[in-house]
Amino acid sequence: MIKVNKFKKDLNKLGNIIVISAPSGAGKTTICDAIVRSDKNVVRSVSYTTRSPRKGEKNSIEYFFVKETEFKQMIKEKRFVEYAKVHNNYYGTSKDFVDKTLKSSKNVLLEIDVQGGLKIKKQYPQSCMIFIMTKNLNILKQRLISRNKDCTETINIRLKNAKKEIQCLKKYEYLVINDNLEKAIDSVKTIIKSLKYKIIANQNYFI
Ligand code: ADP
Ligand code: 5GP
Repeated sequence: MIKVNKFKKDLNKLGNIIVISAPSGAGKTTICDAIVRSDKNVVRSVSYTTRSPRKGEKNSIEYFFVKETEFKQMIKEKRFVEYAKVHNNYYGTSKDFVDKTLKSSKNVLLEIDVQGGLKIKKQYPQSCMIFIMTKNLNILKQRLISRNKDCTETINIRLKNAKKEIQCLKKYEYLVINDNLEKAIDSVKTIIKSLKYKIIANQNYFI
């Protein structure tokens, strides 16, 4: 019989996984930077990638930049909680980092593509799934151009992929349109704050 006498004070709380996905250029990095700066309880996972560093990017800060052979070895050793090929490069999330962060009761922020996001949702159904988009594809194109970090060919691949990524939108839980940056950051902060009140399956709330 389920006992409902008393609310359990010391809930055995794991952190939450927050997945933020968006077509390239929609502003997810800018928004994630603001979130981790303002909320000490949110820790960003640094992914592994076979993509070359962009100007100014440093190993272990934006990504762990690895060769394809090393990445494939890590796949064999099951060191990724998810990985995917995105815009012709491999990207993956460290399983060890995710598990350790959740155990420390912190929220782990995964800034990953939709393929990876959906793999995470399958393994961790309680994950908070946020999709970021601009008002339209023209604005997305303008942001990719003015970011000035990718060549025209890369921008075109990313815009083509954006259309496919938007089709996965309905598999996410929250949509934030990044028109005004401050408002978009506030919206994501509000979603994250609400996680504190989320009911977790398999958690005993009463003793
Ligand atoms: P993503 O990580 O999704 O590829 P970024 O965070 O790099 O996107 O943002 C793409 C570009 O758009 C950057 O130059 C960033 O400064 C700019 N940007 C982000 N949000 C806004 C916004 N709300 N209005 C105008 N420019 C923005
Ligand atoms: P960029 O090359 O612009 O940094 O990232 C390209 C895409 O790869 C973005 O959609 C980004 O979210 C995604 N990405 C970054 N890290 C990971 C990861 O670990 N796993 C997956 N599946 N996608 C990732």
